[in-house]
Amino acid sequence: MSESSLTCEQVLTEASTRIDSESSRLDAELLLAQVTGWSRTRFRAFPEAILEPEQLASYRQLVERRVAGEPIAHILGHQEFWSLTLEVTPATLIPRPDTECLVEAALSLPLPERARVIDLGTGTGAIALALLSERPQWQARATDLVPEAVALARRNAERCGLPLTVTRSHWFTGLEHQHFDLIVSNPPYIEEGDHHLVSGDVRYEPDSALVSGRDGLDAIRHLIQESQYWLTPGGWLMLEHGYHQGESVRLLFRAAGYSDVETRKDYGGNDRLTLGRWH
Ligand code: GLN
Repeated sequence: MSESSLTCEQVLTEASTRIDSESSRLDAELLLAQVTGWSRTRFRAFPEAILEPEQLASYRQLVERRVAGEPIAHILGHQEFWSLTLEVTPATLIPRPDTECLVEAALSLPLPERARVIDLGTGTGAIALALLSERPQWQARATDLVPEAVALARRNAERCGLPLTVTRSHWFTGLEHQHFDLIVSNPPYIEEGDHHLVSGDVRYEPDSALVSGRDGLDAIRHLIQESQYWLTPGGWLMLEHGYHQGESVRLLFRAAGYSDVETRKDYGGNDRLTLGRWH
């Protein structure tokens, strides 16, 4: 068969064997959807559809980027999170399914009707926007230290049509003093020099969103210590962390005086977040 008459199925098979990822077939389909403007279900319904030569050329360029290791979300420029489609750039962490557990856990808390909530180090705005999409009556704020992240989270709020206030601050520093019913964060929590940082998507994500000191807990320690001054009595602090950090994070919460401290698991069955209540 000549180059000019390759079918969708043929190019998808070729691309998915070349892409070295657990989700290689999905990645191949998402890239083809981007190039053709078709939905992924259409490739299943019409596997014999022939691609135009220009489509094939553009597709191969995107596939090469993915084969070289660039995250699928950076190539597409967007990522699904919760029920939202968020713009993604290399300025922030790419929202991950694990972080949806934080959203689920936050929604399950006994919070006031018009809860005041803040997402610190919001990046794309993912957590705060997912919460607002479920609880439009909440008063939600988000902060980030990186100006590009602040701009990105604002664009995502607009894209989702959600009233999120995003400001620049380094955790609480620079924020006007107020009290929250819920403080939530997916801070950096990887140990400096962790071997995990040399493969996969993290190579393309900023260190400031990933790495936090020798044991990975610098940001978490800071947030646990500082949040007590910003929580309303009975307010909750909820932090994402690594699968092996549950016990250390629970100890930090308890040592700082939080009660009802509890670690919850992600969809893979690993410890992923810890929460506690301030009295
Ligand atoms: N969960 C991410 C990873 O392991 C890290 C996210 C973070 O540091 N906040 O790739």
